[in-house]
This record gives sequence, structure tokens and C-alpha cells, in this order.
Amino acid sequence: MACAYHHSDYFNRKTSSIQIKRNEKKGKFEIILHNDPIEERFACDKCINEKEPLCAKFCLKGAITYDPEGE
Ligand code: SF4
Repeated sequence: MACAYHHSDYFNRKTSSIQIKRNEKKGKFEIILHNDPIEERFACDKCINEKEPLCAKFCLKGAITYDPEGE
């Protein structure tokens, strides 16, 4: 939701660059990065105008983190 807001100033998970899906068969989570501007799925721009990536900043469980020293 934070990613969608970053791109379009409204909350709509369908416009987020990032999607997290649960793979029931593998018992794992998958992170999908989208890039389809025609469908308003913009590529991740690393939150270029923010102090830190919003997906990490607002990840309540800490699953997504940001290391300003790393890439
Ligand atoms: S860094 Fe920003 S643009 Fe990239 S996935 Fe996270 S919230 Fe979206």
C-alpha cells in the first residue's frame, strides 16, 4: 500500500511495484517486482523522492528492511 501511494498518491495495491505472494506448495513467500506502466504498475524507483523506501519504512513485521550502506 505504501508503494502504491508513492507512485499514485492513493492506496490501491494494484498499482504497487512490489507484490508479496504466499506459495502454499513451497511453504514460502515470494516477492514479485512489477514493471508495467500501461497497467499503472510502475517499476520500483527506490522511492527516489523519499528519505527511505516506503515499503521498508512501513513494513510492520520488519520483513522488508533498508540498509543505506548496501545496495
Ligand atoms: S522502494 Fe519504493 S518504489 Fe520500490 S518497491 Fe519499495 S515502496 Fe515501491
